[in-house]
Amino acid sequence: MRAVVYHSPGKVTVKEVPAPVLQAPTDALVRVTTAGICGTDLHAVAGHFPGMSEGAIVGHEFVGDVIEVGAAVTTLKTGDHVMSSDFTSCGRCARCARGDNWQCDNREFFGTGSAFGPALAGAQAEIVRVPFADSTLSRVPEGCSDEAAILVADNLATGWAAIERGQMLPGDIVAVLGGGAVGQLTSLSAQAAGAGAVVLIEPTRSRREFAQVNGAIPSDPGSARAVLDRLTEGEGADLVVEAVGSPKALSGAFDLVRRRGQVVSVGAHSDGEWPIPLADCFRREITLGFAIGDSIRLRPRLLRMIVTGMLDPTVVIDRRIRLDGIEGAYEALRQQKDLKTIVNF
Ligand SMILES: [Zn+2]
Ligand SMILES: [Zn+2]
Repeated sequence: MRAVVYHSPGKVTVKEVPAPVLQAPTDALVRVTTAGICGTDLHAVAGHFPGMSEGAIVGHEFVGDVIEVGAAVTTLKTGDHVMSSDFTSCGRCARCARGDNWQCDNREFFGTGSAFGPALAGAQAEIVRVPFADSTLSRVPEGCSDEAAILVADNLATGWAAIERGQMLPGDIVAVLGGGAVGQLTSLSAQAAGAGAVVLIEPTRSRREFAQVNGAIPSDPGSARAVLDRLTEGEGADLVVEAVGSPKALSGAFDLVRRRGQVVSVGAHSDGEWPIPLADCFRREITLGFAIGDSIRLRPRLLRMIVTGMLDPTVVIDRRIRLDGIEGAYEALRQQKDLKTIVNF
């Protein structure tokens, strides 16, 4: 089968590789019809994650058809059209039982080396092996497009997790640092959940314009504090979401948040340490949280909003390609020319 594989730092290529087989009775095999390319893939391909060896299949966002199930899979059958989470969860451990699927003891993350658990082959491939299929997969409901289902797998779940972790209340003023797909979907999530206003802070003009068309107040980084001051009578944002993934951006969040406000980081961080403005945080009683989208936990809620038309995450998709366009698509995302790319198989 054909798959997108890691070649060398910064480079992917399409290669013919052996098709996967079932390895456990709880596995399923899925023939991929649509996949997404994500900022996290860029981290993996840049060499930021451990365990990415040459030839490793990348990608973690996919929709497709079940072609084989293990003997212990009970809720899915061959032919089912399914969406996947970007990570696996067993559905049986104490973490899964309380809805913390992302923290599952048996978590594996597709296509990201060993950064988030044992390495698991990625999903930008014609066929994907899915561990714990009953928990990891879900049928795509009527009224949800494949492209929307791809976004539920990661980017939208991440944006929603940010406002949930930040305990956003209706009427809150939310600042989002970063106008990539996750930042934009954080903005849409906050609006759907009743934010008073969302200020999306982004240096690239096209991404600011996109945010504005989609209901946010755009700001370049240098003007952000002034924009928030006008909205909050000088207090600062109730919630600042950092969706960049750089220590510098996370530090910048503290300049924008109000006293007793919340800072939530959803940017994919790989730095070992980061200096926290300790005395300032203590004095102002700032809450700092981190959130990773838990699409298994959030899937029912997000799908309801998509099916009813409350939330349309597909507005962020601005490029659709076939496998042979993959190298150019990765490069365009890296250069921030595109927001979200979908691969049709
Ligand atoms: Zn992703
Ligand atoms: Zn579990």
